[in-house]
Amino acid sequence: MTRLFLCALLLPALALSAPPSAPYPGGIAVIALGPYAERPDVRFRSNPVLVTREEDGWVAVVGIPLDEPTGTATLLVGDQGIEFEIEPHKYREQHLTVKPSYVNPDPAALERIGRESALIAAAKNHFSSEAPPALRLQAPVPGKRSDSFGSRRFFNGEPRSPHRGMDISGGRGTPIGAPLDGKVLLTGNFYFTGNAVFLDHGAGLVSLYAHLDSIAVAEGDVVRTGDKLGEVGATGRVTGAHLHFATYLNGTPVNPALLLVPRRQ
Ligand SMILES: [Zn+2]
Repeated sequence: MTRLFLCALLLPALALSAPPSAPYPGGIAVIALGPYAERPDVRFRSNPVLVTREEDGWVAVVGIPLDEPTGTATLLVGDQGIEFEIEPHKYREQHLTVKPSYVNPDPAALERIGRESALIAAAKNHFSSEAPPALRLQAPVPGKRSDSFGSRRFFNGEPRSPHRGMDISGGRGTPIGAPLDGKVLLTGNFYFTGNAVFLDHGAGLVSLYAHLDSIAVAEGDVVRTGDKLGEVGATGRVTGAHLHFATYLNGTPVNPALLLVPRRQ
């Protein structure tokens, strides 16, 4: 009797409470898989996918790439395909002015960007087997959040890749806190992101903090929610001091607004 009571109490803590489904490019599809005896192996575009146990069975939490076509897509569960619909979503345009070297880098900078992109891609695609302790993130800084995720961007009038994160306002030196327990995957000074920290939260949930003034952690550090990662700055391709905060699932950037706890007004 006592044992049963304990199990019932523990269940809500075990469930990760998947975010609401937002099955569009740059969003998160939450797909019920049903009652498997063990956590099933799930893949999307051949990348491993986060699978969480909810009250009525296993649920896949799938990041949808910004360039994914809308319409029917297939999730691979074991060796079986599950079809789901990717809905259209409209993103805005954003026009920004930066130093010309950030729009058309010289050959030396291009070589540096090439070297760094391999390291950065490995961090974004990192998949550790342990599931995250939760799927709700605390704000890394308290400032105002932009809604420019997914915007098609023009730098000095030239089209570049869409904005793959959320910009949060904060003056230079504002401390940045870890939004969830995790492990530091990668730190460094990179051409576009400036001083940056990547955190692994488990099962393909990775987060990025960019343009920092200073970094307060080292690769391999284990951090708890709220631990200081560094300070807001204006390093890399920026128009001024702010935090660029990005979240990744199965190697694809997803809108952090879908994972963050709502901001207190
Ligand atoms: Zn940004």
